[in-house]
Amino acid sequence: MAAGSRPAVVPPGGLARPLAGSYKRCFEENAMALSGSSRGEAVPVEQVSARAFTIPTEQKESDGTYEWNDDTIVVVEAKAAGRTGVGYSYTQPGAREVVNGKLAGVVEGMDALRVQAAWASMLYQMRNFGQTGIGAMAISAVDTALWDLKARLLDVPIVVALDGVHDSTPIYGSGGFTSYTPDELADQLRGWVDAGIPRVKMKTGRDPAADGDRLRAARDAIGDDVELYVDANGAFTRKQALEWAGIYSDYRVKWFEEPVTSDDLEGLRLIRDSGPPGMDIAAGEYGWNPWYFQRMLDAGAVDCLQADVTRCLGFTGFLRVGAMCDARAIDLSAHCAPQLSAQVCTAIWHLRHLEYFHDHVRIEHLVFDGCLEPEPGGALKPDRSRPGLGLDVKWSDIARWEA
Ligand SMILES: [Mg+2]
Repeated sequence: MAAGSRPAVVPPGGLARPLAGSYKRCFEENAMALSGSSRGEAVPVEQVSARAFTIPTEQKESDGTYEWNDDTIVVVEAKAAGRTGVGYSYTQPGAREVVNGKLAGVVEGMDALRVQAAWASMLYQMRNFGQTGIGAMAISAVDTALWDLKARLLDVPIVVALDGVHDSTPIYGSGGFTSYTPDELADQLRGWVDAGIPRVKMKTGRDPAADGDRLRAARDAIGDDVELYVDANGAFTRKQALEWAGIYSDYRVKWFEEPVTSDDLEGLRLIRDSGPPGMDIAAGEYGWNPWYFQRMLDAGAVDCLQADVTRCLGFTGFLRVGAMCDARAIDLSAHCAPQLSAQVCTAIWHLRHLEYFHDHVRIEHLVFDGCLEPEPGGALKPDRSRPGLGLDVKWSDIARWEA
C-alpha cells in the first residue's frame, strides 16, 4: 500500500494527549478516537530513517575471543501521524545503509498499527540480500522503532502494547573484561553489588593461566552471597571447557556461558550433561532468527537460552523465541541492549534475567534521555507514565560520533 492511499485514523499530534498517569482515561479517549467509521483503518508509516554513531570505549576491551575499541549503535526513527518511534541495534554502520536503502522503502506506507505485517514484509524483501547478520540487525532496529511508534500512537507505554507478564526485569551486572587488571575487575563487580545487583558476570578464557587469580579476586570482591557467572565466548575446546567447569565450581560459579563455540551444539550438550551440578550452560546471543533457536533448543544444548533483541529480529522476533522457551519450560535470558531488553522481557513468561552490559549501559546513557535505572534488588522497571519506550534521543550530544 502506498503512503497516503488510505486515510489516517489518527489526527495530527496523535490519538490522545500524553499520558498523565492514567491509562484508563487514555484508553477511553483512544477508543473514542478509533470509533465510528475510522475504527480499524490503517495509519501509514510516513518515514523510516537510520543514523549510525561509533562511540569509543573507555579503554581497549577484550573477552575470550574478541577485542574492541568502540561500539556502533544504529538508531532508527519511524514516523506516522505526528508521532516518532525510536529503535536501535548494536552493529556496524552498514546496517544504516540496509535501513535507508532497502527497509525504509518496504515499510513506508504500511500500517503502523500492524508491526508484525511490516516485520514479515522486511524478511521477505531481504531474502535475496541476507536475512541474517547485518540484515537481521537492521530489521531488528526497524522493528523496535515500529513497536515504539505503535505504542506512542496508542499513547500507552510499551509494556502495555506488548501485554507484559512481569512488572520488571531482573538484571545481572556484566563486563569483567579479560583486559581488566584484577583490581579493575574487582572494583567493577563490587560496584554492581553496591548498587543492589545480586548477580555479576566476568569474561574468561583469553589467558586461562590468569583466570584462577581473576576468579579469586572476583569472589573476594563480591562476597559469598552474590551469584557469580562466567562467559568464555567460545574460547575452549570441549575437554578444556569440562576441566574449567570443575575449576569454576570451586568459586561457586552458577552460570557458564559459551564454554565452547555456540555453533557446537553437541559440545554444549556434552558440557551441560557432564558439568558440575548447579552450573547452568547458556548460549544463543548470536541467534538471528527463530530457526536458529529451534535448532539450539532441539539439541538440548542449554539450560537457559539467550537471545539479543537487536539481532534476533527485534521485539517481534524476541517474543517468538520466548514462546519456544515456554513450550519447553526453559528460561530465556536477554543479551545486552538493556533499555530495549528491559521492556520486551516483561512480556516473556519464562524469563530469567537481562544482561546489564557495561558498554551498553554507558552508551545508552550517552544517547538517550529517559534511561531506566536499577531498582533495589537488581531489576529494571519500565516507567508506565511514559508512552512507548520512554526514550528521547540526544541528537546534538551524539552528533560528534556520527559514522
Ligand atoms: Mg556472552
